[in-house]
Amino acid sequence: MPLNGTTTIDRTPVIVPREEHCISRADISESALKVLYRLHKEGYQAYLVGGGVRDLLLGRTPKDFDVATDATPEEVRRIFRNCRLIGRRFRLAHVHFGREIIEVATFRAPHSAGGAGEGVTEDGQILRDNVYGTLEEDAFRRDFTVNALYYNIADFSVVDYTGGLADLQAGVLRFIGDARTRILEDPVRMLRAARFAAKLGFSLAPGLRELILELGDRLDNVPPARLFDEVLKLFHTGHALHSYEVLQDLDLFGYLFAQTDELIKEGDDYTDAFIRQALHNTDERIHAGKGVNPAFLFAALLWGPVHDEVKYLLAEGMTELQALQEAGNEILAAQLEQVTIPKRFSFPMREIWTTQARLPKRQGKRAWRLLEQPRFRAAYDFLLLRCQVGEPVHELCNWWTLFQEADEAERQAMVKTLGSGEGRKRRRKRRRKSRAAAGDHG
Ligand code: ATP
Ligand code: MG
Repeated sequence: MPLNGTTTIDRTPVIVPREEHCISRADISESALKVLYRLHKEGYQAYLVGGGVRDLLLGRTPKDFDVATDATPEEVRRIFRNCRLIGRRFRLAHVHFGREIIEVATFRAPHSAGGAGEGVTEDGQILRDNVYGTLEEDAFRRDFTVNALYYNIADFSVVDYTGGLADLQAGVLRFIGDARTRILEDPVRMLRAARFAAKLGFSLAPGLRELILELGDRLDNVPPARLFDEVLKLFHTGHALHSYEVLQDLDLFGYLFAQTDELIKEGDDYTDAFIRQALHNTDERIHAGKGVNPAFLFAALLWGPVHDEVKYLLAEGMTELQALQEAGNEILAAQLEQVTIPKRFSFPMREIWTTQARLPKRQGKRAWRLLEQPRFRAAYDFLLLRCQVGEPVHELCNWWTLFQEADEAERQAMVKTLGSGEGRKRRRKRRRKSRAAAGDHG
């Protein structure tokens, strides 16, 4: 019986022949098929594995196709001219077909039984994973049973060593082997559990939620750069809101965004509502085939703490722009200790924040200048988001919406009717706000 989210190990695979499963070659990308056939022709084993097989069996469209083989990365490179070897921690071959990349991984073997072998830290974390093995060994070192299903290009059968087919049918996410060991080997697997639970709507195997609640803090030892990738997979693949809810339920959100999480735990409903709205909008954009940008995502996920800090800084007498700049720098610096945000995203992220102070200032040529800024559209979308969550920026939103649609003559009229009183009114309001903020925080 599976206990604590673990699987009993029976090493005889279940093999489901072509006519008894729903995977059709018509649903597999041509590039993936080319790689599979070519490896097979060269005398190697070649399987589709991971999310591709899982999603096809669920009748979903896979995000990408991963291939597993007994060819070494160097042998794969020799076969495919359009191939690059990547990764140190986990060496892989990437076969390029235009924009599509087929990831080809050589079968991996488990690490030495003692757990202290090469590439493993004292607390059991795997640092390198480049020991090659057999198909069977490869199946058991994967994370979840539903991720360890193989589609064999030699006879089009599905191979299941770990009970993945039954779990797929039952909608259960279960670690292969002892769940505690598997989490300690690689704490990121907790985030992967949250992601797959959110994406597939699966439940966690019995005991797994409790185990994650217990071991969540192991994520503190994961390199921030790796967490950046996970954040994008959690929030930029069409199930962001659900990911957020599962992360909250498993108390993992704070290991990615401690500052934001702290505010929410203190009962800051605005921050929680803001994130929910932002993630809902992100999901809608993705489902509508529109682009999404990490700068905007991080701007939204960190807005709570920035907004909160701005209140203090305004009370100390800073202007809104100064306060946004200062708060932005502080919050970003602390965030980088947890999750890397590459500069190409953190610069525009801060611009989205600071532009919030510029959007109300529309006199003279300012509105036109703002409109020409590369980050205008993102900053405007951010303003809409603030409005959606109930900040009193409704009129400003409408004004900017109209201004973008207006022709030149209408634009000039719009700026003219703002009058010169705008600036004075805003200054008076800001003084009131700083007094209120000072009062709030004593
Ligand atoms: P998707 O691509 O839909 O997000 P996926 O299951 O394909 O999901 P990938 O991150 O692409 O996920 O990884 C491919 C496969 O590699 C997984 O299905 C799993 O079998 C294995 N894998 C990936 N990361 C880990 C890990 N940290 N520990 C163990 N196995 C892993
Ligand atoms: Mg994948």
